Amino acid sequence: MSKTVLAVFSIYLITLSACLDVKNPNPFASYPEYSNADLGLTYTPTASTFKIYSPDADAVYMNFYENGTIEESYLVDQMLKEENGVWETTIEGDLLGKFYTIQVFRERGWLKEAVDPYAKAVGVNGMRAMVVDLSKTNPEGWENDKRPPLAKPNDIVLYELHVRDLTIHESSDFKNRGKFLGLTETGKTNSDGLATGIDHIKELGVTHVHLLPSYDFLSLDESKPEENKYNWGYDPQNYNVPEGSYSTDPYDGNVRIREFKKMVQTFHENGIRVILDVVYNHTGSSVESNFYSILPGYYYRFNPDGSLSNASGCGNETASERPMVRKFMIESVKYWVEEYHLDGFRFDLMGIHDIETMNQITEELHKIDPSIYVYGEGWTGGGSPLGEEFRAVKKNVPQLNEVAAFSDDLRDGVKGHVFTHDAKAFISGLEGLEESVKFGIVAAGQHDQIDYEKVNYSKAPWANKPAQCINYVSCHDNHTLFDRLTISCPDEPESELIKMHKLANTIVLTSQGVPFLHAGVEFMRTKNGVENSYESPDSINQIDWNRKTQYKEVFEYYKALVNLRKSHPAFKMSTTEEIQKHLKFLKTEGNNLVAYQITGEANGDSWKDIILIFNGNKEVKEVEIPQGDYTMIIKDGKISEAGLGQQNGGKVMVGGRSALMLVR
Ligand code: CA
Repeated sequence: MSKTVLAVFSIYLITLSACLDVKNPNPFASYPEYSNADLGLTYTPTASTFKIYSPDADAVYMNFYENGTIEESYLVDQMLKEENGVWETTIEGDLLGKFYTIQVFRERGWLKEAVDPYAKAVGVNGMRAMVVDLSKTNPEGWENDKRPPLAKPNDIVLYELHVRDLTIHESSDFKNRGKFLGLTETGKTNSDGLATGIDHIKELGVTHVHLLPSYDFLSLDESKPEENKYNWGYDPQNYNVPEGSYSTDPYDGNVRIREFKKMVQTFHENGIRVILDVVYNHTGSSVESNFYSILPGYYYRFNPDGSLSNASGCGNETASERPMVRKFMIESVKYWVEEYHLDGFRFDLMGIHDIETMNQITEELHKIDPSIYVYGEGWTGGGSPLGEEFRAVKKNVPQLNEVAAFSDDLRDGVKGHVFTHDAKAFISGLEGLEESVKFGIVAAGQHDQIDYEKVNYSKAPWANKPAQCINYVSCHDNHTLFDRLTISCPDEPESELIKMHKLANTIVLTSQGVPFLHAGVEFMRTKNGVENSYESPDSINQIDWNRKTQYKEVFEYYKALVNLRKSHPAFKMSTTEEIQKHLKFLKTEGNNLVAYQITGEANGDSWKDIILIFNGNKEVKEVEIPQGDYTMIIKDGKISEAGLGQQNGGKVMVGGRSALMLVR
């Protein structure tokens, strides 16, 4: 069949199959389940076996190519229908380095030529899968690669970064700018000799990097690196393959795999674990996606009128509750752990996925290693036809075993509602958010000194234990913390913005739960006021290492905060019961003040007693604390674990827009 005829048929069929039969909203219930974990390619040097799940196909063909771009196929092979909706073929001989696609014939026509969703290697722009021998993609020493030690999830300090942002700016001389390999370059500095790249991350002391989407996504043309286009990558194309634009050669499927592994290996060698941001909730294309082209409709949810539903806000949403979608997700994350040695996953719009799938994913990952950390956004980007009671939204976290969620309660309580750009909050002097801050301090758990009616969003605790709550004030979405403060406090000088900036993450890094930092926040990252920079140029998104010099004092403060947290278990209690026992809020007079005390050498801390007071007012405030002789650890934007001097109990003064921490 000619390409033109194919194209016409494809459009006709896609139009038909974009809508489901309204009279039969769940035609997939009768589809068979296939349970073996051998879908996709099984390669050996003497034969390659391919298996594709497509129960309603009338025929399935495979096209084989010498390369991943435009040449005609040298072999077309018809697959045979086996049990449970699976089509299979075995090609004798060594197919190493050959490329292939799948094409389904169904309801009198051809669907679009597609890449096997289970493909583990692809050529440029992910248009064709590639036969690789994964054992030949390992960097030197890979067999000795180990996860850095992690005693408990509460010890985690997350650092969210985009692969390209960290090494693209000219302020540091990386060889592999914007690539996976850029993150393997040690010994790099800015012009003042301050560490950059991975050395900087190590210096800051975080335990985990969380990489924005780094699987193969759709939006960048990998064949045109000279265009220097940018994207966050929330438009998945091939789930089990690294993104080609971050590799030094997107044409050879081996290269991106080897370089991704090299990046993970280097982080591990530097004591840092690696988490991947995964976007199983939708596909970058809808009816043109690989899922749709191999088994129309099955992987997606639909509205009652038969159109694709859109809880992602990106044109479609996947249907994790369907057995073969769930199976795909479980096998995909397991593959990333086993092949790439990843240490955790951040599920984008986790609220789209069903609770059962998230629990099964976590259970399967914890069978491999119980220290793998799983978390996600407990919300969606729009309404879903699957009832909220079934989905992994924030309020259903109590039903999620070992899965954590982001606390937008603390985020917006501290710095303001993300969609009201000029809104002030606790750190900028807006009253009434004290209970939201306290809610974050106890990691979204039950505490009898919190008035839940006054918490901004959640009217009840949602974390069973502290490690299920991720506290943060900024991330890749929305304004950077610095930009947000600049916009919401236009009359304040930079010195005041710095005070608020430090106060915000002092709250985050001393709260119970798991803290999360947006890369560059430690030296006042700016995106020049751009709120949604998903496709903004490097000039907006890049991390400018000159700012590390410019805001050296801020960086040192953040670094000291991270270290303080790491060396004091009192901030990292494992259970809500321990928090209830050891953490008591102190009475304060007036607004924008929160004070608490952690007593009894909590969680084995060397400090018997810790008092923390946060003052979101511009003015100095007086707070009454229990009697005693205290050492000041944090005061007026300075921090020293060795102490900043002594302080008696009773009435103490807390500087404007600052934290005071006293210990004994
Ligand atoms: Ca790509």
